Amino acid sequence: MFIPRSKKDSNKETHKTKFMEWGIINKENWEGKTTFDLPIKRWDPLSTVKITSEDFGLRKEQIRYYGHYSYISPIRGTRPKGFKTMEEEKEFYDCSEKAMKKHQDVFSSVTAGEQVYDGWGMPIGDGFTIIICQDEMRRDNPFLEIPHQIEKVPEASKALTLINRYPSMSRIVDPEVELDIKNKLPPQLKLSRGINLVTISRHFYPSMCFKLIPTDVLVGIFVSMKAAILYCVEEAINNDYYDIPCMPFFNIGKKVGGSQPRIHSQTYIDLNMDGHGSRLEGYLEAFKEMGDNCHLCRTTHGGTDRIILNTEFWTFYNTGSPVRNYHIRFHPMEHIRRFSQLKINQIEDLAYALKIIFQALDDIEIDKNRNILFNCCPYGYDADFHMFADIIPHEIIGGAEMADDMRVARKLPHIAAGEIRKSLEKYLK
Ligand SMILES: [Zn+2]
Repeated sequence: MFIPRSKKDSNKETHKTKFMEWGIINKENWEGKTTFDLPIKRWDPLSTVKITSEDFGLRKEQIRYYGHYSYISPIRGTRPKGFKTMEEEKEFYDCSEKAMKKHQDVFSSVTAGEQVYDGWGMPIGDGFTIIICQDEMRRDNPFLEIPHQIEKVPEASKALTLINRYPSMSRIVDPEVELDIKNKLPPQLKLSRGINLVTISRHFYPSMCFKLIPTDVLVGIFVSMKAAILYCVEEAINNDYYDIPCMPFFNIGKKVGGSQPRIHSQTYIDLNMDGHGSRLEGYLEAFKEMGDNCHLCRTTHGGTDRIILNTEFWTFYNTGSPVRNYHIRFHPMEHIRRFSQLKINQIEDLAYALKIIFQALDDIEIDKNRNILFNCCPYGYDADFHMFADIIPHEIIGGAEMADDMRVARKLPHIAAGEIRKSLEKYLK
């Protein structure tokens, strides 16, 4: 039976947490490490400006910025790769029932709640984890200091949200160690703080075969993400963090950052309290300028020829300024600011729509490596914002595109939309 865990609870069999696993830095694992091992957040001085608008989380006691920044996290390189061989990689494009059933991955032990062994008899993982939400039920405190042994997860469960074992930000830092780090780091660098979540399906479904993922599993993933985000932000505020950018996203496929074959989403919750990126600044400023005339609430997206799907609660369209060919943008009809404000009927509608749109894209052979990015208003900002999201299929990009916030696309958005609409027809009643 599950017992909820608070921050300080420890486990009978205490885990020897390696440096930065689950974002944990303690006295034991800091021993022998240097500043080069630390996860860093670094603002590019050539593109960083101080925030002056009070709407965007301006606090007098702390200087905050917008601009370009990088998270540099050496531990990200040590995480297990989901595909070891070309053969294995090929399997994830195999959407037959048979291919799906035999599969095991790094999450198998966590989702089964007991040690699972691979075909060679080797244990998968070490049996420790931190689970923030099982479906929408709160489990471990987001600031839990010690991982615990895996526990049985009900068969009927749809999704689990875990603390990422190989994150790009530190979550728990021993106060003495933090002081030591501060003294050792040069002033332009700072230890990055935050919570990295990963939400996985309870049963294995390959992310590359979207059409095989049952709608209720996708719904389960969204529901668990939402519950976990709310739990983390609530606890972060209880721990005196404020002004919190939160980025939910899916990396589907190896070419777009998905290192695991199982369908999963991630959420970056930045607790550095030092501002936000330049792209988000652009969105915040644009919505501010719109005032009461929100573009997304009013637009027809250039007539109807770029719209690919209108559901009860969502609009999907090809954006007129694509960052890749076939770049799809979607938003709820309701003017809400954040992913975590989505209601269950909006989530169910979204899951089904995404499923058929992904099938339609597969059918016309759009690259199966895709990102889904949710753009949300940071917590604590008093800004007007209409949440929207992007589906971006993988493509190789050029040099000029790296130099500015600009892309060269060859496909006319309304032509791309026409192709997708036609492909989608057979999935609509
Ligand atoms: Zn709106």
